[in-house]
Amino acid sequence: MIETPVNLTRNILLGMLLGFIIGASFYYLEFIPKSVEEFFAIYLFSLGGSIFINLLKMLIIPLVFFSLVSGISSLTSMKSLGNITLKTIGLYLSTTAVAVSLSLIVGSIFQPGAGYSSEVAPPEKLPEGQGIYETVLGIFPSNIIEAMAQNQMLAVVFFSILFGIALNKTNHLTNNFSSAFERLNIVFMQLVIIVISYAPIGVFCLIGKFVISDGLDIFQEAFKYVILLIIVLLIHVFFTYSILLKMFTKLNVITFYKKMKEVAIFAFSTSSSAATIPVTLKTVQNDLGVNKNVSSFVIPVGATINMDGTAIMQGMATVFIAQMSGIDLTLIQYVQVVILAVVTSIGTAAVPSAGTITLVIILQQFGLPLEAIGIILAVDRILDMIRTSVNVTGDAAVACIVANSENLLDKSTFNK
Ligand code: ASP
Repeated sequence: MIETPVNLTRNILLGMLLGFIIGASFYYLEFIPKSVEEFFAIYLFSLGGSIFINLLKMLIIPLVFFSLVSGISSLTSMKSLGNITLKTIGLYLSTTAVAVSLSLIVGSIFQPGAGYSSEVAPPEKLPEGQGIYETVLGIFPSNIIEAMAQNQMLAVVFFSILFGIALNKTNHLTNNFSSAFERLNIVFMQLVIIVISYAPIGVFCLIGKFVISDGLDIFQEAFKYVILLIIVLLIHVFFTYSILLKMFTKLNVITFYKKMKEVAIFAFSTSSSAATIPVTLKTVQNDLGVNKNVSSFVIPVGATINMDGTAIMQGMATVFIAQMSGIDLTLIQYVQVVILAVVTSIGTAAVPSAGTITLVIILQQFGLPLEAIGIILAVDRILDMIRTSVNVTGDAAVACIVANSENLLDKSTFNK
């Protein structure tokens, strides 16, 4: 098996800490000249961070393509593909429904928006989200090269599955051509390891960039909303997923969380489930023992459609804005928020701040004041980092559950 560099997680944490300290020093120490601060902000943190994210993104499409094709082309029965698909989508949608319900319950009990009045100016232009029609149509690419170039994950997954099936059916005619994809997949996994061995530097830059530009003042804004949101995110990550893992797999949940540390840090520092795909895939396959046939489908699809953290933010933001504006949501409307958040989470892109874009769709639906989104945006950077970690943890938990149910989880790897 391909080896990860030693002490990687420890070094990434050190990179994070250092980025934090240096970023904060620039932000808070008055005597540092502005020009020096700007130089560091742009040429060290921003450039270094963007290079790192580009390297990760560079791997996504070929990695998803080769791993899915090699997984599917080696399946002996296509029936299990159907089962895996159904279970995956079912679990993704239901965990998201639980997530948003949790945030609505906590939000209505603890009332983050009661007595809150904001000075934040409304955003100049409201972002536009993607509707369900475009999302469904987007699964079926008219041009696969274009879909790949634009990182349209569901379209790439769809094409890779078809290609894998065709390869599977023609293996006897092509002199076992599918084995070439197996080997390419190994090469790409090695590339992932090469890129993530630079993660301590990449994460240093990303965290430094965040702190040097925003400082840590955000917590003064909408304090109750921020705290309640973080609490619900933690509840979901540590209780909902533990319960599900225990219920369906009997695996040791502590081991699961320990092994997910690296993925969570990547998601935190990139704020993008998509950019984290290479790391999630690597961890789920190599450390959690999920068979490639499951992980290569469940992880890219999950990064695209499963966003429990995002749904939690949308639930809490809706309650917050409704309370702030003195609007009482009815029970039926709460149920509608749940349905809408589940549906829009499918259409939310796995990139930074995408969740606030689809939040507009929900607010519009209930006639809530869209200007209030300014308050949400003001505090969203750090919340986006946290919820993206929740999103990817959910993907990995579902991958374990699905793999276990299909007898495709290697317990000895998981427990190692
Ligand atoms: N940044 C999130 C993700 O990539 C999406 C969001 O909630 O904005 O998963």
